[in-house]
Amino acid sequence: MALATLVNVRPWGAEPVDIVMSGAAIEAVVPAGRASVGGERIDGGGLLALPGFINAHAHVDKSWWGQPWVPYGGEATTQGRIAHERATRDGLGIPNAASATAVLREFLRHGTTAVRSHVDVDLGVGLRGIETVREAVDSLGGAIEVEIVAFPQDGVVRRPGVLDLLDRAASAGATSIGGIDPASVDRDPVAQLDGLFAVAERRDVGLDIHLHDGGELGAFQFELIIDRTRRSGLHGRVTISHGFALGELPAERRQDLLDGCAETGIAWTTVAPPRTAPLPWLGMRERGIPLGLGTDGIRDLWSPYGDGDLLRVALGFARLHGLRTDEDLVHAVELASTRAAGFVHRAVHDLVAGARADIVLVDAENTQDALVRAPRRQLVISGGRVVVRDGELRV
Ligand SMILES: [Zn+2]
Repeated sequence: MALATLVNVRPWGAEPVDIVMSGAAIEAVVPAGRASVGGERIDGGGLLALPGFINAHAHVDKSWWGQPWVPYGGEATTQGRIAHERATRDGLGIPNAASATAVLREFLRHGTTAVRSHVDVDLGVGLRGIETVREAVDSLGGAIEVEIVAFPQDGVVRRPGVLDLLDRAASAGATSIGGIDPASVDRDPVAQLDGLFAVAERRDVGLDIHLHDGGELGAFQFELIIDRTRRSGLHGRVTISHGFALGELPAERRQDLLDGCAETGIAWTTVAPPRTAPLPWLGMRERGIPLGLGTDGIRDLWSPYGDGDLLRVALGFARLHGLRTDEDLVHAVELASTRAAGFVHRAVHDLVAGARADIVLVDAENTQDALVRAPRRQLVISGGRVVVRDGELRV
């Protein structure tokens, strides 16, 4: 195993340490100056060290990154965007490995070392998007780890054949299958959920369902998902993405749904979009409901926004939810890193022995300061290997 030591860094703003890495993992964390340095020595310069960021909700197949600017178009509703994307993507060559690679490189540049990406699976692209993303990941030689959710963006039961595609994707390495607004997209929530749960159970994969529907319609689908999760073998393997309804419901209704999610181990991802209702994140924390942050799609036919910086997403989360105390500001950064470990199937993700050696250095006083300024990533180490130095990619 190649040995390397990152010397003199301040993990989460604590006293300086040396981090000894063996191969792709952290072997030991010792007070600064105590490591018997063997192999490569990397000077950390006393900078703040954080674990690599985990992007728990991305769409790396959808982007036109690397191409000339594409004006936003289509009707500004979920259905309108689905239709616009399907009408426009082929002409732009989406999906393609070069754009997916460009997105992954921006993630890496900003210190994200692990990603859960939804990848469109539909009657138009079949499983080609998944192959494209795998090609992009391979081109980066292991610098970033990506797990795939086979995502039926265009609907499930309204498009006969999509369930079979999801089944094939699941048997070919997707770690989860997705779903989307079972009520408003398929207009048959029971049939969509029955189909998805059957595939997930048969193929022993997780479920990650986009739920944009708000208010009571969203709440109704929460109840259906909780009920099915309770009756299935998928305890702890179901994620709801967005779930805007939860921010909109009266407090009592919200408590019931949170209790149901906690009981069935349902996790949550959000991209904390501005102009949406804050989520009951404290209620989630109290109940131990996993909450992950993501970029969603960036520079694609859904949105022109996004630069791939998950620390800025954490900042957006903190501002949307009015976080002020040091404890809560640090919590926002934990959501973007340690606390998201489960979304990429890691038992531990932190600056501790046994974790993957994914480390980000920034010039900041402490974690809170890093959050509110989102400064340049001075050094990024992924799997024990330096992938960004002085803010510039080395892969
Ligand atoms: Zn999404």
